[in-house]
Amino acid sequence: MTTNHNGNVSTTKTIVVKLGTSVLTGGTIHLDRAHMVELVRQCAELKKQGHSVVIVSSGAMAAGREHLDYPELPKSMASRQLLAAVGQSQLIQAWESLFSIYGMKIGQMLLTRADLEDRERFLNARDTINALVENDIIPVVNENDAVATSEIKVGDNDNLSALVGILCGADKLLLLTDQPGLFTADPRNNPDAELIREVRTIDATLRKIAGGSGTTLGTGGMATKLQAADIARRAGIEVIIAAGSARNVIADSVGEQPPGTRFLPLEEALENRKRWILAGPMASGDIIIDDGAVRAVVERGSSLLAKGVTEVSGHFGRGEVARVRNQEGKLIAKGIVSYSSVDLAKITGKHSKDIGTILGYEYGAEVMHRDDLVVIQE
Ligand code: GLU
Repeated sequence: MTTNHNGNVSTTKTIVVKLGTSVLTGGTIHLDRAHMVELVRQCAELKKQGHSVVIVSSGAMAAGREHLDYPELPKSMASRQLLAAVGQSQLIQAWESLFSIYGMKIGQMLLTRADLEDRERFLNARDTINALVENDIIPVVNENDAVATSEIKVGDNDNLSALVGILCGADKLLLLTDQPGLFTADPRNNPDAELIREVRTIDATLRKIAGGSGTTLGTGGMATKLQAADIARRAGIEVIIAAGSARNVIADSVGEQPPGTRFLPLEEALENRKRWILAGPMASGDIIIDDGAVRAVVERGSSLLAKGVTEVSGHFGRGEVARVRNQEGKLIAKGIVSYSSVDLAKITGKHSKDIGTILGYEYGAEVMHRDDLVVIQE
């Protein structure tokens, strides 16, 4: 019996399955429906065992190109959006008909970062996805590419699927791609490259390894998969990167020996509000802090005070999200600020008791309260 991080006690799991374009097309220029039906069969098997499945499906643009017979279009945002608009409906029709073979119903959710940035909209989206899951309907999620501009996009479905995992309180995130997992080097040009079976810490070396490999189809490469894995495991979600073409890969992901590379979730998963801070809002500025403040925030779990701040960059308002960095520029934390960047620049390095005198008002001693701050450093 396990307790998932929504507090429910159960033996069954909620699994987010992310299917990249390369998996859905098998590297060709067509949706590979024969392979899609095999993936659906495995989802149906999990469902039969009592697990809940959420699909994050790429492939809208590929489906759009296919349906319109590879049209010659100008290389513009509008053309991409056109392809996504046409392709998304093709894609969802394909999923609908394939899941219906197993008597399963699906519900489409098209999201952008803007839907997750605001806490209220985030909770709304959470209610929808949970309602679908509770009613045995498979949510099929994609980014709303037909309308989303780059400013409001998550940008790749790896990161989107981590956010979806947080939304639905998933236990597992399965990132299916055209490679068997994460390797110690790029397997395409290094015969000594070995598959990494288990990852406990995501460090600079691993990021470097992941940065060098990628696929030509779809948006994500290993680098975005690693980002997604990092976000998800902080929220208590186990992540698996594996080949979408591997036999029984989805069904085996719930077994004792899952395929591919497995990222263990952090033991102390974040509470819900902090998960949203991690997942939802984009940070619009940076707060640089001194070594004493780094120790206070990281080791003692303290709030960030103005005294420890040495520099502010970017523009943010009170209540918005900023990144916290150390003197070397390394990311330490992310959190909601109590003071705007303009106010913070005036009180940088100052004692909390002087804030009122300097600004003529104050919102408390904390620049970032410990409850509003997520430590990112390993
Ligand atoms: N949303 C894109 C699509 O459906 C895919 C993005 C990605 O592959 O990361 O084509």
